[in-house]
Amino acid sequence: MSFTNELLSTVLHHAGREVSRKEFLSLAGRGLAVSVAAGALGSCQSEGPGAKAAGTPTTGTPASEVDAATTFTSPEGTKVASSEAVSPPAKVPAEVSKPIELEAWKSDVDPQSGPVPTPLPPDQRVGYAIVGLGHLSLEEILPAFGECKKSKPVALVSGSPEKLKKVAAQYGIKPESCYSYQDYDKLKDNPEVKAIYIVLPNSMHAEYVLRGAKTGKHILCEKPMAVSAKECELMVDACKKAGVKLMIAYRIQYEPYNRLVHDMVRAGKFGKPKYIQAQNSQSSANPDHWRHKKALAGGGALPDIGLYCLNTSRFLLGTEPTEVFAYTYSTPGNPLFKEVEETMSFQLRFPEGVIVDSITHYNTHDSRFYRVNTERGWIHLDNAYAYTGQRLQTSQAEGKAKMQNQITIPAQNQFATEMDHFSECILEDKRPRTPGEEGLQDHRIMEALYQSAREGRPVKLPAVQGTDVFRGPEPKQT
Ligand code: NAD
Repeated sequence: MSFTNELLSTVLHHAGREVSRKEFLSLAGRGLAVSVAAGALGSCQSEGPGAKAAGTPTTGTPASEVDAATTFTSPEGTKVASSEAVSPPAKVPAEVSKPIELEAWKSDVDPQSGPVPTPLPPDQRVGYAIVGLGHLSLEEILPAFGECKKSKPVALVSGSPEKLKKVAAQYGIKPESCYSYQDYDKLKDNPEVKAIYIVLPNSMHAEYVLRGAKTGKHILCEKPMAVSAKECELMVDACKKAGVKLMIAYRIQYEPYNRLVHDMVRAGKFGKPKYIQAQNSQSSANPDHWRHKKALAGGGALPDIGLYCLNTSRFLLGTEPTEVFAYTYSTPGNPLFKEVEETMSFQLRFPEGVIVDSITHYNTHDSRFYRVNTERGWIHLDNAYAYTGQRLQTSQAEGKAKMQNQITIPAQNQFATEMDHFSECILEDKRPRTPGEEGLQDHRIMEALYQSAREGRPVKLPAVQGTDVFRGPEPKQT
């Protein structure tokens, strides 16, 4: 039974009238249906002394007086209510980039909807070549194009001809726009490709960025940027020399909940931030996977998932750590951790004494959260680094009360907002919010963390003056 049917029959049943939806609609047009339902509902609500007896006729036009023009008769002879089709008032700007403003109907008591999305026409969107068709590309990035407004997939690069054929068919990519790794450099001659998105194991990022820069295409590279700060420097230089943009895929900086926390922290909500607790943990089981090979991954839990705690703390605070301390551990004899660390616990000291206390683990149940503890409250984001399911809570005192709020905002696909930001930078010739320099700074800090763990002592970092010094302008709200 549809919701409407159920509602009508519930209302009428409670009013003491058993009427099927078919009878109901054949009795009258929609106007009558509404007034009958409203009348019945009114009689339900006014039950009690003085209430109308069940079965008391409701107001409305008697069925015999309903104009035949208010019903629609299907070719099979079924009659249904009909209303005149109209287009309610709406503002429709001529520019594609300006949203249509629809007739308002919600009160400000409820959260507001909109604005109406303003996708670019497909021929104006930035075309991407996706390099590497593993978990992230197939499970997240390619599906996310469906939610993009400025980006579209136009080419694929993979070592598997079977994957290329299947994925190209699924996403409408031309067979001639599918390339092997050997043919990667031929992207240069594909005018549809404006950007390359590198989604390969970490140790391959540097080579594919350097080769990619030579094709003259802009490059979005997955995190971690590389396996050393030295490689990051080469990547930044190569892109600068080639005159192409380089962005590191720090999706959290484009995710609405994390952006809201960023705005709260920067605005000093609940006073100054004093310390942040951050955890990103998961469990793996395949010792043959590249994530467990030092040469391909560069490290274990830290560069793969601990990096989220590091990068997000820097993003929230805007400043840079001046000193770090770390401790690593790998269970002896566990084949998963023969080459890479199982866990790292680390502290980052930021200017004005702000401390970030973090742990990342490759051998515990999935747990991804942070809490920003401020002078007068806290801001807690659960599932902070997950693809979906962020839960935002705040706490502060008000008189004798401890106020704890759960804040809900519309979710957005963070891979889509990230790719659209890069496309916008290409279309409007802007610096990305998370350029190569942002990734390089993380690698400098991660190298200091490993040094600290090896030497068992805090390691100082060069002081960096200012706020957001490695970042481009803030992304537009979409
Ligand atoms: P994956 O193993 O699922 O996919 C890697 C792809 O690279 C596969 O298609 C594989 O065939 C290909 N490849 C080419 N040469 C290879 C080689 N020598 N060894 C192994 N694979 C090779 O990995 P993934 O999880 O998709 O990760 C890819 C990149 O994306 C990594 O840099 C990772 O850190 C990053 N990543 C980012 C996020 C995020 O949320 N931003 C999430 C997961 C992974």
